[in-house]
Amino acid sequence: MPKTSSSVISLQEKVTTLQREINHYNHQYYVLDQPSVPDAEYDRLMLELINIEQAHPELKTIDSPSQKVGGEPLKAFTQVNHQLPMLSLDNVFSQQEWQAFIKRLKDRLHTEDPLMICAEPKLDGLAVSLRYEQGILVQAATRGDGSTGENITENIRTIKSIPLKLVGDNFPEIIEVRGEVFMPKMSFDNLNQRAIKKSEKTFANPRNAAAGSLRQLDSKITAKRNLAFYAYGIGFVGNISGELNESFLKPSHYQRLCQIKALGLPMCPEVRLLGDEGQVIAFYKDILDKRDELSYEIDGTVLKVDDITLQQELGFVARAPRWAIAYKFPAQEELTTVEDVEFQVGRTGAITPVARLAPIFVGGVTVSNATLHNQDEIERLGLQIGDTVVIRRAGDVIPQIVSVVLAKRQNTAKAVEFPQTCPVCDSNVEKGEGEAVLRCTAGLFCQAQRKEAIKHFASRKAHDIDGLGDKLVEQLVDENLITTPADLFQLTEVQVSTMERMGQKSAKNLITALEISKKTTLAKFIYGLGIREVGESTAANLANHFTTLLAIESASFEALQRVDDVGEIVAKNIINFFKEAHNLAVVAALDAIMTWPAIITKSADELPLTEQTFVLTGTLNQMGRSEAKAALQSLGAKVSGSVSAKTHYVVAGEKAGSKLTKAQNLGIEILTEDDLVALLVKHGVKA
Ligand code: NAD
Repeated sequence: MPKTSSSVISLQEKVTTLQREINHYNHQYYVLDQPSVPDAEYDRLMLELINIEQAHPELKTIDSPSQKVGGEPLKAFTQVNHQLPMLSLDNVFSQQEWQAFIKRLKDRLHTEDPLMICAEPKLDGLAVSLRYEQGILVQAATRGDGSTGENITENIRTIKSIPLKLVGDNFPEIIEVRGEVFMPKMSFDNLNQRAIKKSEKTFANPRNAAAGSLRQLDSKITAKRNLAFYAYGIGFVGNISGELNESFLKPSHYQRLCQIKALGLPMCPEVRLLGDEGQVIAFYKDILDKRDELSYEIDGTVLKVDDITLQQELGFVARAPRWAIAYKFPAQEELTTVEDVEFQVGRTGAITPVARLAPIFVGGVTVSNATLHNQDEIERLGLQIGDTVVIRRAGDVIPQIVSVVLAKRQNTAKAVEFPQTCPVCDSNVEKGEGEAVLRCTAGLFCQAQRKEAIKHFASRKAHDIDGLGDKLVEQLVDENLITTPADLFQLTEVQVSTMERMGQKSAKNLITALEISKKTTLAKFIYGLGIREVGESTAANLANHFTTLLAIESASFEALQRVDDVGEIVAKNIINFFKEAHNLAVVAALDAIMTWPAIITKSADELPLTEQTFVLTGTLNQMGRSEAKAALQSLGAKVSGSVSAKTHYVVAGEKAGSKLTKAQNLGIEILTEDDLVALLVKHGVKA
C-alpha cells in the first residue's frame, strides 16, 4: 500500500520522539553513569529507530543516536583524541540473528568457507584505551564519543592489574591496548551495602559503578573501589611520529590478545578461538551457564572474525565494526508496573510488603511479585503504587525492584500505606526500636504464625512432646484440628491416627506424651509461649523472680527490668505479648490444663551464694555444665557466660581457654571442678 504523506509525517514524529528519548537515556547512562531504564528497554527503542531508518533512509539524520558512539566526554577532564576511533558493537539476540550475521559476512567476503571466530565474554564495564610509550603507561582514556575521550590516566594508575610498565623488552615504540575496566560483583555488592548503611545513593549495576568510580576527579576514591581490567583489543601501534606499523603484531586477533598478555596485560580466561563459527552456539550456552559463577558481570558474548586481513576487508559501519557482533544474553532487568502492594505475615510475625507486578518475563522466568522487605526499603526506593519500576532477576536470586522510573509516574500513583493492625489476625503490630520490620504481636493466635508457635511449644527445650514433629504439626494445623497449643490437649487418638504416616500405636504414644507434658515447670511454661527474645534462661529468671504466672502476666515495665537479663526490649516484648487478648485466652487455657510445682522462695540462709557471680569454662567431668549451673543457681549464685571485673569465681574445667586467661589477668579466684563439688557439698547440694 503506498504511504500517505500523513503516515510519513507521523513516522517523522515517531523518529524525533525516539531520538529525543534515546539521547536523554544516553546522557543519563554515559555522562551521569546513572541510567533510569534497563538496557532491554533502551535496546528496544534503538531497534525501533534503526528499523524505521532502514525502511525510510530519508528520515535518518547524521546526528541520529543510531549513528553515534557513547556520549560527550565530561568537560571536567582534559580530552584525548583517539588516533583510531573507539567504536561500539552491533547486537544480536538469537541464534537465527547470529546465523544471519555470519551469512552477511560470508556474502560480503564471497566465501562459503567457515570463519575462525575469536569468542569472548562481553564484559559489563567501560571501554578504555591505554597508551604505552617505550613500554611505559603514559596515557589512559575513556571511549567518550568514539573520537574524543576523557583523560583518566591518574585513575587508571590505581588499578592494580594494569601494568605501569610492560613486561620484557620486545614491544613497539607505541602500543595502545584496549579493554574493559569493570567492578567485580563482590566489590559492587560491598560498595552498595556501604552506601545503603550511610543512606547514600547506590549504583544501579556494576557497569555504572565502574564508570562512576573511574570517571571522577579524585583518584584516591578510584583506588578504593577495587576495579579490574581485561584487555580485548589493540588500537594504534607504531612510532612516536604517528606512523602506523603493525609488523610486531600477529595476523590473528586471538594471537594478538596472547601477545599483549605476554606483555603483562590481563586477558579474560574465558576467551576461546573457535575453528568454525558453528561452535559459537555451544560457547554462548556455556558462558551463559557459567554466568552466575563468574566473579564479574557479563551481558553476552562478543564474537569477532579472527583473521585480521578479513577484518580489514570487512571494515566498519557508522558506529561499529562489521567483523564483530555482541550476541547478548536475555535481559536480567526489565520494566514493569507495580499494581498493588500487599502485606504478608511471616512465620515469626514479620509483616513484609510485597509488590504485585504486571507479569513480566525477566531473567528467564515470568515474575509477578517482588518483596519490598520493609518500610525503609520502600522509602529508599521512593516507591508508590502504580509506579513503573526496574525489576531485576539474576540467576537464582529472588527478583528485586532496583529503582523507580520517576519520569514515568502517573498522577494516579498512590503512596504505600502500612497496616495499623495485623492483616491476618487484626492484632496489634509493633516495630522494635531501631528495627525496620513491623511485627504482629499475636504470636500464639495469629494464623500465619500458628505452626511455628506450636512447633516451639512442642520443642525439646520447651515441653519436649515426643512424637510431635514439625510435619505432624503442619498437618494438624492444615486439617484445622488445632489452632493453638492448648488445642493439642483436646486431640483424640482417632484424630491423630488419621494423619499421614501415623498408625494407631504412634497416635497412642503421642496422646501419652501429651499427657506427660502437662506436668511442667513455670520456667518451661513461660519459655514455651514463644515470647520474642524470651529464651530459656530469661524464662527461668522470670519464673524465679516472680514465682507465679499471674505475677509475670501483670508485671510492670519497670518491675520486669529488675529481672536478670531483662532489658527494655525484652520487657516491652513481654508487656506486648500479655496485652493481646488472644494470647491471654491461650495462656488461660494452658494454665487450666498444665501444672507445675510451686516455687518456694528461700530465705537468705538457704541462698548462701547470693550476690556471687560464677563463670563456668572448659569441660566438667563429674557433671554437665547445665547441672553445675542449676546447682549454683539453687544456692542463689548468678552464673554468667563471660568473665568481667564483676565475676567472683571462674570454675575452670579441662581445656579451659581464653576465659581462664582473662580471669587470671583480672586476678579472679579460679576454682577447679573438685573445688566446685566441695563447695556444693558444703552447702548441702549433692553434686
Ligand atoms: P555495547 O556495550 O553494547 O558494546 C560495545 C562495548 O562493549 C565496547 O565499547 C566495550 O566497552 C564492551 N565490551 C565488553 N567486552 C568486550 C569484548 N570482549 N570485546 C569488545 N568490546 C567489549 O555498546 P555501547 O555503545 O557501549 O552501549 C550500548 C549499550 O549500552 C546498549 O545496547 C544498552 O544495552 C546500553 N545502554 C543503556 C542505556 C540505558 O539507559 N539503560 C543507555 C545507553 C546505553
